[in-house]
Amino acid sequence: MRPDRRGEMPSSIFCTAFRDREADGSYLTEFLLSKGYEVHGIIRRSSNFNTQRLEHIYIDPHNSSARMKLHYGDLSDASALRKWVDTICPDEVYNLGAQSHVGVSFENPDYTADVVATGALRLLEAVRTHIETTGRQVRYYQAGSSEMYGATPPPQDEDTKFHPRSPYAVSKVAAHWYTVNYREAYGLFACNGILFNHESPRRGENFVTRKITRAVGRIKIGLQKKLFLGNLKASRDWGFAGDYVEAMWLMLQQEKPDDYVVATEDSHTVEEFLEEAFGYVGLKWRDHVQIDPRYFRPSEVDNLRGSAAKAKAVLGWAPKVNFKQLVAMMVDSDLEKAKREKVL
Ligand code: GDP
Repeated sequence: MRPDRRGEMPSSIFCTAFRDREADGSYLTEFLLSKGYEVHGIIRRSSNFNTQRLEHIYIDPHNSSARMKLHYGDLSDASALRKWVDTICPDEVYNLGAQSHVGVSFENPDYTADVVATGALRLLEAVRTHIETTGRQVRYYQAGSSEMYGATPPPQDEDTKFHPRSPYAVSKVAAHWYTVNYREAYGLFACNGILFNHESPRRGENFVTRKITRAVGRIKIGLQKKLFLGNLKASRDWGFAGDYVEAMWLMLQQEKPDDYVVATEDSHTVEEFLEEAFGYVGLKWRDHVQIDPRYFRPSEVDNLRGSAAKAKAVLGWAPKVNFKQLVAMMVDSDLEKAKREKVL
């Protein structure tokens, strides 16, 4: 809690947690509720329910004790963003929304740019105009991505040159610079968190870690035999999403807005992830994995490993879950899920 907000709980917060690749919206909501915040999630309207990750914390809004509220909105809709910021009057805004799949961004580049890049601009504008008309203080967090470093070799820190390698990453670079620009031009308290890949049992199933742990669970209990993957040589700095949301919050509690890398400083190849995940349940990945060229990307990011020295020194942040613990947590969860599927 920022010093100027102590004693004012619950303060409200506005969190765009839709199309959320790392399930950060659900982890951040849990974290902020534990701090006494009121949390407003802006979610995209869909013909299917897309709120499974929030169901365990959702309380019927008719219940007066409900401190999490969900609203329909979209980063492609400036008027809705403005309406919600003006109605909710948040103290903190976390922009976690995106079309977030790198592979899909090659198929849908316009849409990705609209939601990821221009979407951030729309939300910044909504915040800026709200501040201008009300004189309130609002702090803004922009979810940046290690994908922005792309072809630049590790270790990557806040001074490393961006060289994005996908429409998704190019759009994230634009969102990063919009955020810096609003800080410099309007004095907005706006921070970029450059988060390296962060995973959890709630991770979307088309991202490689979850795709692997889902398959491990299903193969172990006989529901599946093969797993089709693309490039196994890529290296990623994989951390736990639950650790990373604390870093987001810490950024907004500082005296001055700034940009921070959040990473474990440890990296592994997809092949090493396979080794660890299959090995954890006594299986050999080579017996099950087949390469499908469909999953290769037109331009790949080979090697990401962050340096989080600044976050450690300034925010006092450090990851709690290491690579082995992360893989074990995800496999355990997916094994349970597969067992439930088998019973059905
Ligand atoms: P990203 O780092 O944001 O692209 O996260 P992903 O989990 O989507 O991909 C991580 C790495 O795994 C990338 O280098 C992918 O090329 C590689 N990879 C290999 N096979 C697959 C696959 O089947 N699906 C995905 N999503 N990635 C794969």
